[in-house]
Amino acid sequence: MYLSITSTHQPATDLGFLLHKHPARAQSFSLSFGQVHVFYPEASEGRCTATLLLDIDPIGLIRGGQKSSHFKYVNDRPYVASSFLSVAIAQVYSSALSGRCKQYPELVEKRIPLEATLAAIPSRGGKQLIKRLFEPLGYEIQLIEIPLDEQFPEWGRSPYYQLTLRQEIGLKDLLSHLYVLIPVLDNQKHYFVGEDELGKLFKHGEKWLSTHPEYELITKRYLKYSNKLVATAISHLEELHNPMLDDEESEELEEKAEKPFRLHDIRLQQVVDQLKLLGAKSVLDLGCGDGKLLRLLGNEKCFTRIVGVDVSYTSLQIAKSRLERQKMNQVELWHGSVLYRDKRWIGFDAATVVEVIEHLEIEQLSAFEQILFGHARHNIVILTTPNVEYNVRFESLASGQFRHKDHRFEWTRAEFQAWAKQVANRFEYEVKWASVGPIDEEVGSPTQMAIFQLRNGEVHGDNNS
Ligand code: SAH
Repeated sequence: MYLSITSTHQPATDLGFLLHKHPARAQSFSLSFGQVHVFYPEASEGRCTATLLLDIDPIGLIRGGQKSSHFKYVNDRPYVASSFLSVAIAQVYSSALSGRCKQYPELVEKRIPLEATLAAIPSRGGKQLIKRLFEPLGYEIQLIEIPLDEQFPEWGRSPYYQLTLRQEIGLKDLLSHLYVLIPVLDNQKHYFVGEDELGKLFKHGEKWLSTHPEYELITKRYLKYSNKLVATAISHLEELHNPMLDDEESEELEEKAEKPFRLHDIRLQQVVDQLKLLGAKSVLDLGCGDGKLLRLLGNEKCFTRIVGVDVSYTSLQIAKSRLERQKMNQVELWHGSVLYRDKRWIGFDAATVVEVIEHLEIEQLSAFEQILFGHARHNIVILTTPNVEYNVRFESLASGQFRHKDHRFEWTRAEFQAWAKQVANRFEYEVKWASVGPIDEEVGSPTQMAIFQLRNGEVHGDNNS
């Protein structure tokens, strides 16, 4: 079983520094389950590949007292990617996995063109599961099915695939995805799963797991369905991606700042009016929070399909109970993230993104743009965000303070318009701006709104990905 990682970032041999393994030297390490070799089948300036080869000792596995006698003699463990590979990554590529590189620290975070190939990976869940796990993380996936036996095609398919993943990504992130997701695909572990597995899951999933659309499945399988561990992990992950709702202090700050003219209500009503004006019938509200906009839309007969999406389960729960109280059963709620491509989003007339982008990291905006404007491509997108210039008019805000503790940025009018213009140009939309709330001659209105319309009207679907 091998894992090959190829870099084409020039000079490609820098991969050796990142992995702390010299391209000219083959190395071998003894681990509890067998021998692990690292070598470079190619190492030129343009392309460099490091291969991690696991030579698992099948006799050693039996001595370890593994499972039934059947398992002892017939098993796939030496030949497929499994939790043994995760252990090998953690041991042999430990510096790269934790993002340490003395010579080139800047390379660790940098997204570079990388390709990872796993010779054989079992997927208990087939091709679809591989896609559901890796596509949301931005990978281009290539899969080759491995037949059960080439000489006996009638025996049918096997659960094994050769998998290649490609992406411009930091090496540390690539390794952390593999470390967690290989055992998830395999759904077996060669060791007892205890509390320390929780720590490993949080450590290696820190940056991406809480917003991954399949985080529940990943957590359950990674922790081998240990109910107690899974429950602890899921509540921790939910806290992670839901820092704001539990944060009363922050909520109060925003409400207090904006209260005098009930800005939130004005903003939402203006969104509804715009949607009606533009003739939208089906609406996807991204980052719907507790569903206030959904309830306003649900009161209007002209909207035939209304769906709210949020990354926070707690928000969705609140939205669900409020919608139920108002008997708005027609409104659907989906768990999802604006940072992950989602096929379900295609086909709506309009998307609304109300006070959401400022909760994303600036570096995440390009992924968001690609997903919303490139992939989902709704005819209409209505997006609002605070106008930071107006903050000086809020008495309760200290100078330089944002309106909410979870805001990662707040933009001036010029900044918002420059961003919206370049997005519109790149994805062939027209964009108009609107002010929300009272307009101050000097600093503008408290909220700014951009209304995007697809240039050639009726196209739905993926034509820019
Ligand atoms: N649109 C709502 C809520 C705004 S608060 C309103 O105007 O009332 C911001 C919302 O964005 C929160 O509910 C938060 O959970 C959600 N959010 C933050 N990051 C997100 C992401 N990556 N994907 C989807 N929703 C996200």
